[in-house]
Amino acid sequence: MYLSVVVPCMNEEESIPGLVARLSQAITPWKDRAEIILIDDGSTDGTWAAIEAAKLSCPQIVGVRLSANRGHQIALTAGLEASQGARIFMLDADLQDPPELLTDMMFMMDRGFDVVYGRRSERRGETMFKKATAHLFYRFLNAMSDVPIPQDTGDFRLVNRRSLNAVLAMPEKARFIRGMFAWAGFKQVGIEYIRSPRELGETKYPLRAMMRFAIDAMTAFSTKPLKLATRLSFISLLMAGLMAVYVIYSLVVYQTAPGWASVVLAVSFFSGVQLLTLGILGEYIGRLYVEAKDRPMYFVSDDTRDVTQAPQRLR
Ligand code: UDP
Ligand code: MG
Repeated sequence: MYLSVVVPCMNEEESIPGLVARLSQAITPWKDRAEIILIDDGSTDGTWAAIEAAKLSCPQIVGVRLSANRGHQIALTAGLEASQGARIFMLDADLQDPPELLTDMMFMMDRGFDVVYGRRSERRGETMFKKATAHLFYRFLNAMSDVPIPQDTGDFRLVNRRSLNAVLAMPEKARFIRGMFAWAGFKQVGIEYIRSPRELGETKYPLRAMMRFAIDAMTAFSTKPLKLATRLSFISLLMAGLMAVYVIYSLVVYQTAPGWASVVLAVSFFSGVQLLTLGILGEYIGRLYVEAKDRPMYFVSDDTRDVTQAPQRLR
């Protein structure tokens, strides 16, 4: 197998026919030695039926169905683990990333790069809010992270078996795949492209999922938030000292201490700082807990490959 295409799909029944049509066009030069792995991430619509239907017209398709929704990054991991190709191409099901860029990515990989990622020079059809938060997120993450993570890139990329094996050797369950590729090292290069609007269906990344994703990325690639607690404690000690000076001064000069307003401010400020640091500790402890339990990331409940390849007795 030369080329594996991996696409996580959650409630994408509308997108699949168009996706398969454009993908099978884009992989034409490698068609005889290619597979298209579609991972149904616990969809509640007709995604699995759409995958099975698409398989009839496109024999390269391999469907893998997860037993429940596990999220984009784990669905992608499931696909990567199922892949057999020497080169692995990842993209979203909603055609926001142009499959046609594969030709350019292949060209760069032929020139010796291990990872060729797409860099979004422009995002079309996304809200100002999503653009602004994404922009801030990638800048902030880089300021925090110990490894440089390429700005404005997604999981849209072509990687070779060597770099994929490196990422699959990382056992962590809270996965931030683009960061894991950056951390793994190897020779990497970006290709700019314009990210088009989602063609059909709606985003599966509501604000809550985006925040979770950002916190996972942050805790996975930096321990700086933990050190923030120490810094905050110095700042709050300093502020407490200044307040003490002020209180003593007014006791001596005006024979009275200032009233409840300053008390309320001080109490709410310090409890805010404490809750924030507790929250940061909690995020890391939660991660330790999840990793310590060491549960499998996902279970496969259905697999079109098994049906065709498993020995007769297992069918
Ligand atoms: N996705 C998934 N599981 C999830 C959420 C999303 O497999 O729990 C898939 C989704 O089907 C799509 C990709 O991940 O192929 C990216 O999701 P989406 O396009 O909704 O994100 P956005 O582009 O809005 O950031
Ligand atoms: Mg999308």
